[in-house]
Amino acid sequence: MSSKISGTNNFKVVLLGEGCVGKTSILLRYIEDKFNDKHLSTLQATFLNKKLNINNKRINLSIWDTAGQERFHALGPIYYRHSHGAVLVYDITDDHSFAKVQNWVKELKKMLGADIVLVIAGNKIDLEHERTVSLEEAERYAELVGAKHFHTSAKLNRGVEELFLELSRAMLDRS
Ligand code: GDP
Ligand code: MG
Repeated sequence: MSSKISGTNNFKVVLLGEGCVGKTSILLRYIEDKFNDKHLSTLQATFLNKKLNINNKRINLSIWDTAGQERFHALGPIYYRHSHGAVLVYDITDDHSFAKVQNWVKELKKMLGADIVLVIAGNKIDLEHERTVSLEEAERYAELVGAKHFHTSAKLNRGVEELFLELSRAMLDRS
């Protein structure tokens, strides 16, 4: 259930995925419409807020980003507990990052059951010519685990807005 304060649906969303896949970039593109070529190691805040309206319903997203703990395999349940949604990000040019998404899906399903809405994002589609993760495989996998699959480019601003909109719709449906 979302917590409702004065008619607003408050949803916690976590970004998960291997280091360097573009989690922080996706968040900064969505919230501030910015992109940086440098690796964005730490964010000042642990989460950023975004307000939106869907069908006259007010939604407040608290989108949580890691401070890089994924690199030390130190991202535990404290980070994702009480989440309404998770965005599982991989880099389409990096097979290993896709395998990592599958690990996260397993862990979230085990720890949170069906209570969480999952969205998978194949990021860096501006590097389509370097793709190593099969599109068909990724879409088949997403369908199998009941997640929506999106292609994003934080760099070129593709798919980011759509991803959060669809995720918000799905979380509203469940609330
Ligand atoms: P995080 O560790 O998952 O938070 O990844 P970052 O957001 O720090 O991004 C890691 C690197 O990938 C940085 O150099 C970004 O500029 C780059 N990056 C992020 N998103 C994209 C994208 O859509 N396309 C390309 N070409 N590079 C990206
Ligand atoms: Mg980051």
